[in-house]
Amino acid sequence: MAFDHPEFDQHEEVLWFNDKDSGLRAITALHRVRGRGALGGIRFLPYANAEAALTDVLRLSRAMSYKWALTGLPFGGGKSVVISTQQAKTPGLLRALGRCIDSLNGRYVGAPDVGSCASDMSVVREETQFVAGLPGSDTSVPTAKGLFHAIAAVAKTTLGADSLEGVCVAVQGVGGVGGRLCDHLAQAGVKIKVADVDSALANAVALRCGAEVIAPDQISSEPADIFSPCALGAGLNEQSIACLAAPVVCGAANNQLATPMDAQRLEAAGITWAPDYVVSAGGIIGGACEMGEIDQASCEQRLQEIGQTLLQVLSRARDEQVNTDEAAQRMAREILGE
Ligand code: NAD
Repeated sequence: MAFDHPEFDQHEEVLWFNDKDSGLRAITALHRVRGRGALGGIRFLPYANAEAALTDVLRLSRAMSYKWALTGLPFGGGKSVVISTQQAKTPGLLRALGRCIDSLNGRYVGAPDVGSCASDMSVVREETQFVAGLPGSDTSVPTAKGLFHAIAAVAKTTLGADSLEGVCVAVQGVGGVGGRLCDHLAQAGVKIKVADVDSALANAVALRCGAEVIAPDQISSEPADIFSPCALGAGLNEQSIACLAAPVVCGAANNQLATPMDAQRLEAAGITWAPDYVVSAGGIIGGACEMGEIDQASCEQRLQEIGQTLLQVLSRARDEQVNTDEAAQRMAREILGE
């Protein structure tokens, strides 16, 4: 039951969708509906059970509210999870999902997330206008740019580096975001180390950016000034934190902390953690631009401001003697008026 769930945080609506014909089973959670509605990705995963799906959607929709709040853009946090294998993701199921989203009359706008892509969104679009991230858009471009601004800002305050020239950044995962981040870093004269489970991709990015290739299981413990996780989430846990060699972690991977306790572990280890939902906000800023909510100039300005927002989070954490996750959440909650 959602009201009693440990992740329930006064979510405004939690909707269960079932479509017998297509096999669709989905949950959409609207944490806060603000301004233009609640916007967030549609995640397709073969969840073990409905409880696991509910936990994920409650947590992810809340994180989206924080992310939107800290960008100052007029959206609230929402998220959909579909209990599905990739094989079950048929056009019929995607269209059924489109009808469910449409029934919310714009209170929720869906977008691609783990397990879904732009071409899936065009099938969803056959049934509803309330979908973003259609083919032709690539949010990894603004995400990488915003992350680069965050890295530059944190290098300045934490490492005292006036420029990124000669700073060493270890990038874990060089796909859409990580690969583009490396291009920005290379241009700024950063010493780059890269790792990817796709070794051909790691080699290609290394060649292009003059980076050193590190084994995927070594990258997080590789000596560097900044470790930038840009692969999968939940990589920061008790064991991995104990092995981190960089004094700063600043990357785009969503939900980096395996548990909320890990923010405290990073703090205790003297490691500055840049909350992922602050530094990866470039994707939603780019999405807002694609939807016509802001123009290109405002988009660029807001991508730069990610660096300043991160500095505010770090300074608040210092002033209030809390970890950076807690500081960012306090800031977001104030913006939400809570
Ligand atoms: P992607 O799939 O294009 O790239 C991820 C890369 O990580 C792949 O090349 C993959 O081979 C590699 N990888 C996977 N496991 C690895 C491991 N254990 N070690 C090293 N490499 C590994 O995804 P992306 O769009 O670049 O997104 C990266 C992360 O950033 C994800 O966590 C995503 O949720 C988050 N994020 C992305 C966006 C966006 O706009 N794309 C926005 C916000 C957050």
